[in-house]
Amino acid sequence: MPEVAQRDAAPSTIASDTVTLGIAAAAIILFVGTGGSALPKMIAAFRGEGLGPDNMLVSALLLNVALILFGWRRYRQLTSAVSIHRQAEAIALKLAERDPLTGFLNRRSLDEAACELIAAAQQRGEVVAVLMADLDSFKQINDLHGHVVGDRVLIQSAQRIAAILPPRSIPARVGGDEFACLVPFDPRHPERIDDLAAGLIAAVASPVGEGVCGPDVTLSVGASRSDQPRRANDDDDQDDTGIASLLHAADIAMYHAKRNGRNRFYWFEPSMENALRVRRDLESGIRSGITNGEFVPYYEQQVDLSTGELAGFEMLARWNSPKFGVVGPQIFIPLAEEIGVIDKLSEGLIAQALSDAKAWNPKLTLSVNISPVQLRDPWFAQKLLRMLVEANFPPRRLEIEITESSLHENLGAVRTLLASLKNQGIRISLDDFGTGYSSLGQLSELPIDCIKIDRSFVMKLAENKDNATIVRTITSLGLELGLPITAEGIESEEVLAALRGYGSFKGQGYLYGQPETAKETTERLGEMDLLAAPNPQAAPQPAEPGTDHDDRSAASG
Ligand code: C2E
Ligand code: MG
Ligand code: MG
Repeated sequence: MPEVAQRDAAPSTIASDTVTLGIAAAAIILFVGTGGSALPKMIAAFRGEGLGPDNMLVSALLLNVALILFGWRRYRQLTSAVSIHRQAEAIALKLAERDPLTGFLNRRSLDEAACELIAAAQQRGEVVAVLMADLDSFKQINDLHGHVVGDRVLIQSAQRIAAILPPRSIPARVGGDEFACLVPFDPRHPERIDDLAAGLIAAVASPVGEGVCGPDVTLSVGASRSDQPRRANDDDDQDDTGIASLLHAADIAMYHAKRNGRNRFYWFEPSMENALRVRRDLESGIRSGITNGEFVPYYEQQVDLSTGELAGFEMLARWNSPKFGVVGPQIFIPLAEEIGVIDKLSEGLIAQALSDAKAWNPKLTLSVNISPVQLRDPWFAQKLLRMLVEANFPPRRLEIEITESSLHENLGAVRTLLASLKNQGIRISLDDFGTGYSSLGQLSELPIDCIKIDRSFVMKLAENKDNATIVRTITSLGLELGLPITAEGIESEEVLAALRGYGSFKGQGYLYGQPETAKETTERLGEMDLLAAPNPQAAPQPAEPGTDHDDRSAASG
């Protein structure tokens, strides 16, 4: 429709209409001229007072009338084309400033509306709160339920937000799943904004229907206020002023809400900005650290407590960051999970660990920790098996440690994945046991080979009765299910003696040593005469075939 209107008003048409207008104007002038002499004669003839006008004059008069009618018709056509053109322009303008899905203003048109709103609020002695509301886990909703449901969630959320915003507020959709709400309020009552944010969170969380239930759709909200704009930082966004600054501050507060567990609300505070900057530095450091090989495996001894013999090592990741020094996994693993690089990070570490462990005596096992995020990858089992084959490492020497949180979602898929790994000979242990919510049913259903009691119970075993009870209960549970137990966090002889009293365990902890680098581990094993026999193919002279050879065929089989 707008195209048709625009075509009607094309320049060539307008030029020909100017000619038409000229002809019509000439016709009117001629009409006045001819009519002036013809009409009195016609009236006189009508009254019977004289002869009528001559035929030529009448014909000219009629021709003039026809030309005037033609001009008038063309004028009507032209005005209607112009009005259609204006309508089309108005529609295009509306489309340009509105989000087509929700009907909310879009980011581009928000600035002008915000400036007007803030100016009007100031005149009334009010302040404008900028609330940034972001749907939690929206990507997952899209991935799991498809884009049609994703769109429906967005539309429903927008409707619910709009329904509870006070009058004069402006809602806008500023990102895929991000809404900004500008709300004028009395600065003496900021608690009204707290209440509004709580209302928004509650409204969005109620069920959407058809396969998407409430708990899946939650909202994180951050807010800034127009009387306290974000202080522009020297090294950051110099031109970030006015509404952009308010949106940025609200965004920082919203991220703070996400980091603190989602589904909650925070006002912006300057300290959040520093935390965010550190986090951004960590994130970019992790990305470049993966490429630069800054993540390295450390190894912690695992010992058979009854014999005191070394059974193997648990690989624990460390980050040798040029900026932050040696960083522990508690800092970078959750971040790597969040920014979607955990698989790459972990695969690099595992490949390195497999290569390191090949230098150890083949009776020693290698345990690696696997993130719940990796277990969601349907190709994880194939990837791990391919790594084993590439490293010529026997699957039976590898143990993967998964945490109870891996079992919360999609238990069926995790069970299938674990079963296929177990079929290949890989052992599976349940790490940090006692800190999650695994049920007995889950334990017996899953192909688990070992339970690792969380170090928080073991470390204080000797001093805390409750911990002793927990460790004893887990031990008898393991016995009942036929699952061996590993105790982590053994720091003292006292704890070791207590554990020995409960049954037969594998164990690890600072009593046996802190996690060490690959080089230190190899040196330790050399001293203990626990290095692999030299590889006959690598040795210049034929040597005794090592047991490793059989293992290799197991890996590729
Ligand atoms: P985890 O798997 O439970 O590892 C044991 C943690 O306890 C290690 O901390 C270890 O250094 C520490 N620890 C061991 N013995 C003692 C002790 O006697 N006393 C005390 N106080 N602590 C002890 P670390 O290395 O900081 O690792 C923390 C967690 O990070 C690990 O807990 C594991 O869940 C995770 N992690 C480590 N490396 C990786 C990895 O490559 N991938 C994944 N997904 N997670 C990893
Ligand atoms: Mg572990
Ligand atoms: Mg653990």
